[in-house]
Amino acid sequence: MSAIARALGDVRARIEVAARAAGRDPESVTLVAVSKFHDAAAIREAHAAGQRDFGESYAQELVAKAEALRDLPDLRWHFVGGLQSNKAKYVARIATLVHSVGSEHVARELAKRAALAGRAPLDVLVEVNVGGELQKHGVAPADLADVLRAIRTLSELRVVGLMTIPPDGTREEAAAVFATLASLRALHGGASGLPGLSMGMSGDLEEAIRAGATYVRIGTAIFGERRAGTLTDPTG
Ligand SMILES: *Cc1c(COP(=O)(O)O)cnc(C)c1O
Repeated sequence: MSAIARALGDVRARIEVAARAAGRDPESVTLVAVSKFHDAAAIREAHAAGQRDFGESYAQELVAKAEALRDLPDLRWHFVGGLQSNKAKYVARIATLVHSVGSEHVARELAKRAALAGRAPLDVLVEVNVGGELQKHGVAPADLADVLRAIRTLSELRVVGLMTIPPDGTREEAAAVFATLASLRALHGGASGLPGLSMGMSGDLEEAIRAGATYVRIGTAIFGERRAGTLTDPTG
């Protein structure tokens, strides 16, 4: 068994234990394997071990890897990185779910590009900056109602939930951020209006699942430590 297959098994076991401890069905948590800075060969190994959902943070890597892995048609791409409107066209062509819509402006561009690419309606999550000024991306909780209202008028996008990235800190601090995201969801449509909650990474997936995560975004625990990318940028 490859190291990646073994690590994937370990992560799946962690998800199962955490879900059962929270009285949840483990099937209600989608594991997104975040493959940024890892090459297509690593993704093939994970795919061979049954993994189908992969996350990328940079449009240029997403484009390069989607091209390199075209022969795996059942692979689903998630875009989890900070999204700028000039990269929206690449993401709209490839992503199954965009986790990181952080403004109405970016949403409008993504909507336009999804329509042009024949991929509307495209599923998106709204990234919420729960942790405050320590992080750059995402909608402030106080602005969430307005941003959701604006995005819900765009027929080319379907808002299916919320996402957050906690600031660097302890697991307890992350757990507090996850609980806040869950209560913001309750405030703005509940689980019926916003079924998806994308939260939890390698170091805190248990806390996220306890707070209701339906997508956990796991990189290091599957693929190992990341090296700085050496990929060329086909998106300019
Ligand atoms: C890199 C990244 C992850 C994965 O983090 P790990 O700690 O390596 O599991 C998850 N979410 C986002 C948005 C990321 O950029």
